[in-house]
Amino acid sequence: MDSQEESSSSFYKTTYTDQSDSEADNINTSSTTNLISSKKKRDRNKSSFVWKYFKVIGDKDVCQIEIRKDKKCGQEYLHDKSISNMISHLRVQHNIVDNKRLKSEIQQIRQTTLPDIIKTNIPHKGAKRKEIVKAVIEWILLDDKPLSAPRKKGFRRMMSKIDPKFRPPSDRFIKSEMEFSYLRNIEFLRQEIQTSCETATITADLWTSRKNEGYIGVTCHWITPNWSLRSVLLCCEKMEYPHTAESIYQFLLKKCNEFKLDNKTIYAVTNNGANMTKAIQL
Ligand SMILES: [Zn+2]
Repeated sequence: MDSQEESSSSFYKTTYTDQSDSEADNINTSSTTNLISSKKKRDRNKSSFVWKYFKVIGDKDVCQIEIRKDKKCGQEYLHDKSISNMISHLRVQHNIVDNKRLKSEIQQIRQTTLPDIIKTNIPHKGAKRKEIVKAVIEWILLDDKPLSAPRKKGFRRMMSKIDPKFRPPSDRFIKSEMEFSYLRNIEFLRQEIQTSCETATITADLWTSRKNEGYIGVTCHWITPNWSLRSVLLCCEKMEYPHTAESIYQFLLKKCNEFKLDNKTIYAVTNNGANMTKAIQL
């Protein structure tokens, strides 16, 4: 909700806060229709179940539920157009919800027949399945999820609502798709470098992981004939010790060959590590 909308009416603000309730669910949040439907809303609010439990006293709505003998709850809300505070009070303090909504939801569940479930549950095939699996793999990579994430209960339950025909791909399938996609992208990158790069700058850096394993990362930057800057990660891989100037040099040479950078003019940027600077000089 943008700030303008927020400040324009406190009534709309309160209706947004409790959208889980049936009354609030039915309220159209579009600002233009809000004005037109506000009378309808008032009428609906008047017939709401909350008035079985709340009474208007002066300018207040007061909860009339008996919490002990001769002792009423007495929770007060300003008597305005909003009933969402009363709805949430009834739910949280007295475990009371809209009976009409409860009944209709139970009926909906009962009415879902086995053929319905089977009909909506035939899994996707072909191109659609491929597209979904690709999206799942992208999610795993971008959000750093384990390969098993799509088979976890919560994810599957959520997906069954979003798309009942969704079936989680197996680890093995995810792995093979990732490998394929990696190789495809490497090939794509190689072609891109070949066609659009004349002079490149590479950067290289070495790290040691907590497990005491060495890693090397190499990035490559160039300007295309259309003057657009390209920056890509060529690799981030494990590198066996010792990290001597000679071994770093050999590694960089191998990477340059792999990406067909060997016939380009190359500049290198590194940190000041003795082995690194010597490797570049080689
Ligand atoms: Zn109460």
